[in-house]
Amino acid sequence: MNGIVRISSRDADLGDGMLVRRLLPSRLQRMVGAWCFLDHAGPVDFPAGKGMHVGAHPHVGLQTFTWLIEGEVMHRDSLGNEQLIRPGQVNLMTAGRGIVHTEDSVADGQRLHAAQLWIALPPEAEDCPPDFAHHPVLPQWQAHGAQLTLLAGTYGRATAPTRLFSPLLGLDVASDGATALKLELDPDFEYGLLPLCGDLTLAGEHFHTDEFAYLGQGRRELPLALNARTRVLLLGGRPFEQPIVMWWNFVGHSKAAIAAAQREWESGDGSRFGRVKHDEGRRLLAPPLPWATR
Ligand code: MN
Repeated sequence: MNGIVRISSRDADLGDGMLVRRLLPSRLQRMVGAWCFLDHAGPVDFPAGKGMHVGAHPHVGLQTFTWLIEGEVMHRDSLGNEQLIRPGQVNLMTAGRGIVHTEDSVADGQRLHAAQLWIALPPEAEDCPPDFAHHPVLPQWQAHGAQLTLLAGTYGRATAPTRLFSPLLGLDVASDGATALKLELDPDFEYGLLPLCGDLTLAGEHFHTDEFAYLGQGRRELPLALNARTRVLLLGGRPFEQPIVMWWNFVGHSKAAIAAAQREWESGDGSRFGRVKHDEGRRLLAPPLPWATR
C-alpha cells in the first residue's frame, strides 16, 4: 500500500461541443492544497471555423490559473484587460469579490492544449479586489533530460512570479526522451500529479494521460520514470483547512455568499461584476442553485 489514489478523468462540456477532461474536484479527492479545480483541455485540432469560445461569465472567491501548452487564447475581462496568452505562459486572474471574463481561440481551426485550474481563496482574501496578471516568462531549467517550468510557488532556489494567497506548488515537467528523475517534495504539502501527455511510472504504478495520482502528505521525494514524449503537471499545497462551497463558477465559504453572487449576476446589475467590453451579449447563466433558498 503506497497510499496513492488513482483518479480517472470525467468529460465535461464547456458548451458548443468543447469537451475537456475534469480531474478536480473528484469524489475521491476534492482539492490539492488550495487547488480546487483542474480541467485538461485538448490537445485538440479544431476543424476550420471552430475554436474555443467561452462567453462572459463571472467568478468570485477564487483565482483562475491558465497554463497554455499549445494554441493562442484571448482573455478579456471586466477590468478592461485584453490579453493574448501563448504556449509556455500563465494567466492568473484573481476574482476576489467579483470579475467577469471571456476566453476565445484567436484563430479558428487551430490546435489547443491547456490546463485550466482554480485556486480557492482563504476567507481573509475571498472579498479582495479583482486582479489580472499575465506571466509570459516563468522560471525554467533542465534536469535529467527533462524541462521543468515552475508555474506557482517555490521549488529549490526558484520562485514563480504568480501571486498566491496560500502555500502552493505548480510544476510542469516535460521530456522528449524517456528519463528518470527525483523531485524534491515538502512533507507538509499534499501533492497530486497528472500526465498531460505520455505516461509514467510512479512507485511501481503506471499512470496514463488523464489519470491523476493523488499522493497525500508526508513525502520528501518523488521518483518518476517518464516515458518518451511525456508531460506531467505536479500540484502541491498545504492542505486547505477551511471548508469551501463550490457552485458553477463561484467559490465561497458559505452557501449564502454563493447565492448572493448568483443573484447579483442574474440581476444583470453590473455594480459587482462589471462588464466585458465587446462581449457581444454572450452571457452565460448559472443553472438553478442545487439547494433550497428562500
Ligand atoms: Mn472562467
